[in-house]
Order: sequence, then C-alpha cells, then structure tokens
Amino acid sequence: MKCEILVIAEHNEAELDSITLDLIAWGSIVAGEKRWAIGVLVLGLDLHSIVNQLSSAGLIDHVFVIDDPQFEIYNSSVYIPAIATAIREIQPELVLTAHSYTGIEIAAGLAPLLGAPLVANCHSIEASGNGFLVTRSAFAGRFFATVAVSDAHPVLVSISRESSPAKTAARRNCEIHRRRSSNDGEAKIRVVGLSAPSRMEDITGAEIVISVGRAIRQESQLDGFRQLAAALGGVIAASRPIVDLGWLSSDHQVGLSGLTVKPKVYLAFGISGSAQLSRSTTMRVPRFFKLHTVERSPICLRFCRRFLKKQNVGI
Ligand SMILES: Cc1cc2nc3c(=O)[nH]c(=O)nc-3n(C[C@H](O)[C@H](O)[C@H](O)COP(=O)(O)OP(=O)(O)OC[C@H]3O[C@@H](n4cnc5c(N)ncnc54)[C@H](O)[C@@H]3O)c2cc1C
Repeated sequence: MKCEILVIAEHNEAELDSITLDLIAWGSIVAGEKRWAIGVLVLGLDLHSIVNQLSSAGLIDHVFVIDDPQFEIYNSSVYIPAIATAIREIQPELVLTAHSYTGIEIAAGLAPLLGAPLVANCHSIEASGNGFLVTRSAFAGRFFATVAVSDAHPVLVSISRESSPAKTAARRNCEIHRRRSSNDGEAKIRVVGLSAPSRMEDITGAEIVISVGRAIRQESQLDGFRQLAAALGGVIAASRPIVDLGWLSSDHQVGLSGLTVKPKVYLAFGISGSAQLSRSTTMRVPRFFKLHTVERSPICLRFCRRFLKKQNVGI
C-alpha cells in the first residue's frame, strides 16, 4: 500500500472541520501532479460518522483510523507520539496539517520526532521537481515568500484557513485501514477540565461588524456605536488601542493578536487599517468601508443605512 500524501484530520466530534477538506484539496493538487496516493489519518473516539464522510466523498485513496478512548479529548502528549508512529509506518512524502492551534502543536511536535522539515502557516503548495513549492505570508502579511523544500522524507506543511484551494479532484476509491494505538504508559499531560470560552459576543461569526479605532477618542463614544451595531443587527469590534485602553474586552479585538472576522460588511470608524488589523489572515471581508466622518457626521443609523444602500449592500 502506497500513500505518499497524508492529511492529519481535524474534526469536532461528529463533524469534519472544513480545514480538513481544504487540506485534502491541496493534497489532491500535489497528488494529481505527482501521480501519488492521498490518505487521511484520523484519531478520536467513535469515529464512524467521520470515517463515512471521508470514505464516501471519493476524494482520497486511504483513511487510517485510530479509534480509541485515549483520543477522545485532544491531548498533545497522546496524539503526537501516536501520529509519529503512524507516519513512520505509512511513510508518506508529505504530511499536511491545519495551521490551527492543534495542527501547529502537532506539526511542531512531529518535526523533531521525525527529523522532518516543517514549513508553517502556508497559503498554497504545489509539486516541484523532487520536492514542493509552498507560499507563506511573511512580516505580518506584508508580503508572500515562496519556499522550495526538497530531498526530505517526509516534509511537514501546516496550511492556514484562508488558503482557498481549487476543489476539482479526480474521483478516488477509498480503502479504510483501522489501526491500534501504539501508545503505552501514562500520558505526561492530562486534560483536567474543558469549558467554553466566556465570550459575551462572538464577533467571529457576525455578518455585520462595526469596528471602532483610536480616533473615537472617548469611551463615552462607544454607546453610539453599540446602538448602531444593534440597530444594524451586527456586533461591535475594535482595533487594539481601544482594547489596550480597556474600553472593550479582548474578545472584541480584530487582528493579528486578536480575532479573525469574516462578515459581509465591515464598517471601520477612526481606524487606519494597519497591516496587523486588516491583512487577509485576520479579515475575510468582501466589503471593507473606512468612514472618515466620526466628528463631522454624528453616528446615526439613517446615515449608515443610506451609505450602505448607496454601496448596494442589502441589510
Ligand atoms: C505584533 C503586533 C500585533 C498587532 N496586533 C494588532 C491587532 O490584532 N489588532 C489591531 O487593531 N492592531 C494590532 N496591532 C497594532 C497595529 O499596528 C496598529 O497600531 C493599530 O491597529 C492602530 O489602531 P487604529 O487604526 O485604531 O489607530 P490609528 O492607526 O492611530 O488610526 C486612527 C485613524 O483614525 C483616523 N482619524 C483621526 N481622526 C478621525 C476622525 N475624526 N474621523 C475619522 N477618522 C479619524 C486617522 O486618520 C487614522 O487613520 C499590532 C501590532 C503589532 C506590532
């Protein structure tokens, strides 16, 4: 059995995370160019539905399943050795992980265990000679670097969520391989509790974001923007200076050291739009409006509705 490209799946209990499908799409592009087989390694507990989703989609040649109670909750000290053992046995040329908090941890743990090079936070990958060309953002997204990796077996690549690969892979027949966990002994790290984040308001899923920056000058100004956000059915967000001042909590901050937003409309008031705030890694917005009228036009719903109507945005 040959499987030159191995994707490490991310899933949330019964649902595959969409990044896994992106990783498969990137793997398929390379597999098509190199005429390689592509497989997915999935760890967890009660994985029937995940395995069905993966094997019935016709996108991959192999699913490697490690279904075991010790993988019920993500724990790096249990996951990384088990994945490393599976990689040693499967012997892929390329291992793709998500550039998520678990994917980064797994890839960074695998690199020294396998003596493999890791290229992190990539936006694209293609086959090139006896290796790969990967593109990644550098200097907080100011420009892209293209990196050539060759003569290494395997190569580890973590891919960011914003990569948007083309999804036109040839149909493949999938074999399912069930594996036993290779881990023995006590885990060095134990997960002793899980709790949901205490976000008052989740700006990451909002369709309309009203974002305020340093130029609003006074905390009392926030009320008007809060009312505007509520009236438009959106949420209030901020640039870092506003959060540093303590006027809004950190779960309102958009940007490199804050959260990624993907609304339909992002209205920015008194924000300069620095690279750390507005680069594609932090914001996926079809329409970004910067309003330079905080002082001269009072913030009012009618003004914004008229403005959005003029821009042909239906809300
Ligand atoms: C490693 C690193 C990580 C960072 N992470 C983040 C992050 O996650 N999020 C983030 O936001 N920043 C981040 N920053 C900071 C970032 O570089 C900027 O300093 C910050 O985004 C600027 O915020 P601002 O746009 O509110 O303020 P400013 O850059 O000061 O912009 C204020 C804007 O308001 C305009 N203005 C002034 N008066 C008015 C008026 N009356 N009406 C309308 N407009 C007016 C000004 O012309 C200017 O364009 C980070 C920086 C570093 C180094």
